[in-house]
Amino acid sequence: MINEQQTGLVFDIQHFCVHDGPGIRTTVFTKGCSLHCRWCHNPEGMDHTNTARYFAEKCIGCARCVDACPHGARCIIDGRLFYQKEICRNCLTCAEMCPSGALTVCAKEYTAQQIADIAVRHKVFYGQEGGVTLSGGEALMQPEFTASVAALCKEQGITTAIDTCGFVPKESIEMTLPYTDYYLWDIKAIDRDLHHHGCGVYNDLILENFAYLDRCQKKISVRVPVIGGFNATDREMTSIARCAAEKHNVFEVILMPYHAFGEPKYRTLGKTYSMWEDAEISEEQMEHFKEIFRSMSLPVK
Ligand code: SF4
Ligand code: SF4
Repeated sequence: MINEQQTGLVFDIQHFCVHDGPGIRTTVFTKGCSLHCRWCHNPEGMDHTNTARYFAEKCIGCARCVDACPHGARCIIDGRLFYQKEICRNCLTCAEMCPSGALTVCAKEYTAQQIADIAVRHKVFYGQEGGVTLSGGEALMQPEFTASVAALCKEQGITTAIDTCGFVPKESIEMTLPYTDYYLWDIKAIDRDLHHHGCGVYNDLILENFAYLDRCQKKISVRVPVIGGFNATDREMTSIARCAAEKHNVFEVILMPYHAFGEPKYRTLGKTYSMWEDAEISEEQMEHFKEIFRSMSLPVK
């Protein structure tokens, strides 16, 4: 099933990452996500197809994008470029015609072999622990590509990790099992309705897949975004800690405080950022939540 020529849409590749699994890593961000978390700081990875982004500060007002758009989704009024997302058909013609880089495409197509070649060039920096992390978006939305990249990296002696929200068919996880050393598993909430409220889907499949991965005896790093107004309560943190503590292969839990770094990206995509006002939490609250995890003998960062 491993295919060197399998293509995938990738919206970013970052090197020297130290928060995406053990050691120093190259993180590959694949396009498309199965959740719609309100706090997402990578909105350019949400859509499954390629999309255009607009950087107003680079726009020279030439109107080439307006003339090029076959659907009339862009127009200039009083020197400002306007965009009607609901009309846009995502053909990307406007980005191809833009001379200044104000309109660009989010993602680029790579073959699995091209990604593996990039990883090999950086192998010297990975040391014993580091390697490649496939992230997103949701890395398992393009399972053939992700599995092929992981397999090719393993062939080169590079450690692999997959960062996933877990809301994917079990078969997609299965496909990657032989080639993946670590899974970075996001848990946002245990309460079903709360999960639906924050992420747009119920969490049954995520929790089933989490238990399945544990039975497969894979090393799991649990990732918990801590969001005020959502899951930053003793009740929810205790439920998440209990769920992680029941598993046999969770080697760490990472609590990630909410930050609004992703907000400006929403504007470049013509999307609305509709986050709760009280989402940020204090260091004291974070320490308190860490204690909940420690009390269940979970190593927490
Ligand atoms: S991507 Fe959207 S806005 Fe751009 S040319 Fe195509 S339809 Fe028009
Ligand atoms: S083509 Fe590019 S520079 Fe010209 S108006 Fe459109 S976004 Fe601005």
